[in-house]
Amino acid sequence: MALRFYNTLTLDVKPFAPARDNTVRMYTCGPTVYDYAHIGNFRSFVFFDLLRKWLRASGFQLDHVMNITDIDDKIIRNAVAKKQSLAEYTASYTQAFFDDCKLLRLETPEHVARATEHIPQMARAIRELEEKGFTYESEGSIYFRIASFPEYGKLSHNDFSGNRAGARVDVDTYEKDDARDFVLWKAPKEGEPFWNTEVGKGRPGWHIECSVMAIEFLGETLDIHAGGIDLTFPHHENEIAQSESLTGKPFARFWMHAEFLLVEGQKMSKSLGNFFTLRDILEKGYAPETVRYLLTSVPYRKSLNFTFEGLKSAATAIERLRNYQLRLDTARFSAGSNEVLERRTAEANRQFTDALDDDLNTAEALAAVFEYVRETNAAMDAGLFTSGNVEGAKAFLNRFDSIFDVLKPSEKANALPDADIEALVKERTDAKKARNFARSDEIRNRLSAEGVLLEDTKDGVRWKRK
Ligand code: AMP
Ligand code: ZN
Repeated sequence: MALRFYNTLTLDVKPFAPARDNTVRMYTCGPTVYDYAHIGNFRSFVFFDLLRKWLRASGFQLDHVMNITDIDDKIIRNAVAKKQSLAEYTASYTQAFFDDCKLLRLETPEHVARATEHIPQMARAIRELEEKGFTYESEGSIYFRIASFPEYGKLSHNDFSGNRAGARVDVDTYEKDDARDFVLWKAPKEGEPFWNTEVGKGRPGWHIECSVMAIEFLGETLDIHAGGIDLTFPHHENEIAQSESLTGKPFARFWMHAEFLLVEGQKMSKSLGNFFTLRDILEKGYAPETVRYLLTSVPYRKSLNFTFEGLKSAATAIERLRNYQLRLDTARFSAGSNEVLERRTAEANRQFTDALDDDLNTAEALAAVFEYVRETNAAMDAGLFTSGNVEGAKAFLNRFDSIFDVLKPSEKANALPDADIEALVKERTDAKKARNFARSDEIRNRLSAEGVLLEDTKDGVRWKRK
């Protein structure tokens, strides 16, 4: 079965291919850089990354835009409180976001677009909406009149036809199910930064930012627009209203939304205070790839409950795969090729593809990998795994890692505690005494992968970190 995705707009799973020239034009809503992102935010970003990698593995090219929201109410409030300019205030959090992305092995989209660098284009779009009769002005701010867009509600599948005419909202996000006319352009308040544009002094609302930058880089109709599930309403609903009113074309063919990362059943969020940043987790001694693994282990459309137990299981799972890889690299297998195992490898590859083609079913894909590892490990123990099977197994593991990207230890991994290193060093010495050189080599490699070097001296083994 071919690649297919669930579409929030149509509420069903449909085959996916880009509309034009084999290139997937994709827009994902990026961070608001008013603070460090938490790992709940990163669940969405890790999902976007997996989506990228699987689209590319499926033979498509990517043209992907992610925005950086570097102007909004919270940013202004915090920057003013710290007596910093907006640019100063957002620079450090933007950098922190990129640092975290790098640690989590997230590819950089083809375009990273900062809202503040596209203000004139936003003013232009608002002017056009005005000219087409979709807006009204009140006290210097400009609002989108949702009654002028009869399809409003089609993404979140709400019937807003009975909404209160003329009710409007100035803030960018709101939880309520009733729709309001939303702000496109905000008049400046005393002491706030503003831009002088063709629609007057002020600053853009959050929603117009994404519509304008998406169309600017990718054209009027995107193949995929993705974000966290909470963005469905009002943010994406508003993006559709603005974009389709401007262009008269469908804004995005596929809408994909990642479910929440939960903590004890509640959404991980800044406002609830139940969040961890990546930094918080790394300080506890976990490697970044462990977080990456955990965040991908549950398919993106299911909520995922964060626990440290879960994080430990993720670390164990990665460890198992690394040990398997090491065994493939270092163990000696008998000559020849076991046909049954060759077929098993082909089957595992098929299962892996089928799972990810099925709306990125990462849990099934991981199950295919672990089942294969379990069976082939058993075949190795039984002496049935032959040298002719090694390449296929390695290729499968590499293929898995080209998407999940967790096998290479992080450079800053030097996180193996001294006690663990010493225990492994002792185990290696014992293995050598027992002439179990396969095991002693395995341990040396493992430690090397962790950045630990061993030196055999006449007084015993000395170790040091690279
Ligand atoms: P923000 O920086 O608040 O604009 O959010 C950035 C992204 O993270 C958005 O796509 C949100 O939908 C997403 N997000 C926020 N909280 C969570 C969570 N607990 N689980 C998954 N995604 C989240
Ligand atoms: Zn957006």
